[in-house]
Amino acid sequence: MEKPMKIKNIVILGGGTAGWMCANLLLKKWRHLGINVTLVESPDIGIIGVGEGSTPSLKAFLDILEIDESEWMSECNATYKNGITFKNWSSVAGYEEYFHPFPCSLDFATFGFLEKNSTLRRKGVDVIAKPNRFSLMASLAEKKFAPIPSKNFPFHFQYGYHFDSVLLGKFLRKKALEIGITHIQATVKNVELDSNGDINSLNLNDDQVVSGDFFVDCSGFASVLLQKTLEVPFISFSENLFNDSAIAIPTEIDPDIPSQTVSTALTNGWVWLIPLTNRFGNGYVYSSQYCTQEEAEKELRAHLGILESDVEARHLKMKVGRVKESWRKNCVAVGLSQGFIEPLEATAIQFVHSTIAQFAMAFEQGEFTDKHKDEFNERMNQDFEGIRDYIVLHYKTNSRNDSQYWIDNRENKNISRNLSSMLNCWYKIQALDAELNRLNIAGYYSPKSWNCLLAGMGLFPPAESLTSAEAPSAQADLDFVDNFIDGCSMNFRSHEIMLKSGMS
Ligand SMILES: Cc1cc2nc3c(=O)[nH]c(=O)nc-3n(C[C@H](O)[C@H](O)[C@H](O)COP(=O)(O)OP(=O)(O)OC[C@H]3O[C@@H](n4cnc5c(N)ncnc54)[C@H](O)[C@@H]3O)c2cc1C
Repeated sequence: MEKPMKIKNIVILGGGTAGWMCANLLLKKWRHLGINVTLVESPDIGIIGVGEGSTPSLKAFLDILEIDESEWMSECNATYKNGITFKNWSSVAGYEEYFHPFPCSLDFATFGFLEKNSTLRRKGVDVIAKPNRFSLMASLAEKKFAPIPSKNFPFHFQYGYHFDSVLLGKFLRKKALEIGITHIQATVKNVELDSNGDINSLNLNDDQVVSGDFFVDCSGFASVLLQKTLEVPFISFSENLFNDSAIAIPTEIDPDIPSQTVSTALTNGWVWLIPLTNRFGNGYVYSSQYCTQEEAEKELRAHLGILESDVEARHLKMKVGRVKESWRKNCVAVGLSQGFIEPLEATAIQFVHSTIAQFAMAFEQGEFTDKHKDEFNERMNQDFEGIRDYIVLHYKTNSRNDSQYWIDNRENKNISRNLSSMLNCWYKIQALDAELNRLNIAGYYSPKSWNCLLAGMGLFPPAESLTSAEAPSAQADLDFVDNFIDGCSMNFRSHEIMLKSGMS
């Protein structure tokens, strides 16, 4: 039943990326209504301190706050990101790597050709269907260009960033302080509830009591308010996604800084390579069911060519899954406290943004009551599962045989109905866009993304069974595609120059 709430004080628990993003967005939205926002963070419990790649959603978030690239990027050692190269996920000859770009307004000119050729190739016709050939952003990443066109190039571009997450947190804290956040540094000892089960106040270890009308739980995997206090159950995704651990190690940056993330599959997981202006961030995301922490660290160091180096490695545990409901009583969880899908497509910060934005909309539309709580929770759960299925697809379609980890991932029967339908659609040579629309999941990953992944992994009839091409008119016009991409690329500049010139 709808429950009226008189909202004067909102309390955010947690000062990681999620907490500071929330603080800025809620202040921006509701400060003029006289709502106060307080953020409590523990000086003794650190932030997760990883999470250095974004999707275009981070740009949208910073645009809402009217924060320009020239203001934040250099403070956070940030670089531009065209997308992600996936290396060694497939062992099909010719498909050892592929690029997953962000959506780009120029895709209309080339994406249809990828669709055309990948359909022919699925039918067993010998045509080029590797996605990189059809993507402007793949070409920009290969040339180490920034995804920022010259001013007279009249197309809109979406792109992501790489950044130092600790510095981004500090930057967002500074911005929140400028616009009126109350910041308290202390640890929550216990939480007081009202007789109706709502959260009343936080008791801190310095004896302060922080009362609020509404609470936002950004306390990371600890989920102090939503899971621990309000006892919202956690639904693990471990049957679908096996990885539960990560190791992070920095290495020296190349002088010619790449404009993409690289995700390379290793024996029991994959490694991210994220370029910042001052270092590479590297991290091995793996499953502790298949190897020990020591084995994983050794493999990561060997992969990075730093077996002998004494640079310290950080070991992290990941709790992969989602809460049953993100909003219960007078508390919404945002960030790791609400759930986490492993960082293969760098979606967590995007999820933080979308959770705050959707919560704020639902709260406002319900006139600061819980009128739209159930719809919001349903939407969050669907969003988690929509993203999860696309991540699972990477594992399900791998063709590696070098370890039980990869074989088990490929043979895993615990996949959702939606994912199973999408795979059937691909193998039955049906249209991906129609199936995504039928399943109502086109909002998570576009047909282009699905096509890039499925074609990029080389999920086609074997090369030796291919027949020769049909009439040329049936195939993609590769000369057109190449000329178009080359012509467009001339409107972009090197990443290094863009970074040195103080951003766009
Ligand atoms: C290995 C790994 C790689 C990742 N890579 C990416 C990526 O590339 N892209 C991406 O978008 N995301 C990534 N993420 C996710 C991303 O790091 C997080 O979503 C993001 O940092 C938000 O974290 P958070 O703020 O929810 O939690 P945290 O950073 O853990 O912050 C928790 C806060 O709660 C406070 N706190 C906890 N308990 C108490 C208490 N009792 N009292 C007071 N304060 C308390 C802590 O002090 C801290 O301030 C990755 C995550 C992992 C694990």
